[in-house]
Amino acid sequence: MTPEDLKQFVRTVPDFPAPGILFRDVTTLIGHGPSLTAAIGHLATRAQASGATMLAGMEARGFIFGAAAAAHAGIGFIPVRKPGKLPVPTIGVDYQLEYGTDRLEIDPTTITPGQHVALVDDLIATGGTALAATELLRSAGAIVTHAFFVIDLPDLAGADRLRAAGVTVDALMD
Ligand code: IMP
Repeated sequence: MTPEDLKQFVRTVPDFPAPGILFRDVTTLIGHGPSLTAAIGHLATRAQASGATMLAGMEARGFIFGAAAAAHAGIGFIPVRKPGKLPVPTIGVDYQLEYGTDRLEIDPTTITPGQHVALVDDLIATGGTALAATELLRSAGAIVTHAFFVIDLPDLAGADRLRAAGVTVDALMD
């Protein structure tokens, strides 16, 4: 299946998580075996071509695509977690949401300084989450030059913000 073929398996849910928001839901895509296999294959091929030697995915849907793509590519995976989940000393970054702030944490010992780590998530909207994860991985010594998404919402210009931070953005669909 081509990335274009996968579009029909993304469900659009109106008014979630708040009135007026159209939520692009990948639950339907990951529930369809051929679509899941194709999405993981495309992400893994692109990540391998980027020269990444590890993938990092953001909790929670980034774990689904990131870990599977890393296994497919034969490389390791770094979970970028919500606060308080890791049982070891962490480093973290706070970042701005539309209302309030959020935080991401990693175990810095999973990264060898100078290692090429690429990001994976289901979707990029404003880019705030991916920018925060990039900053966090870089602070642990990783070289972050590529980020891979199943879906880009171009109207929200997150990919532009990530490119301005020196990260090449690649999405399977808009
Ligand atoms: P951003 O930080 O604004 O780019 O939002 C991206 C993050 O929020 C990702 O981790 C996504 O999983 C999640 N997200 C935002 N909008 C949607 C959506 O429409 N569908 C699925 N996830 C979304």
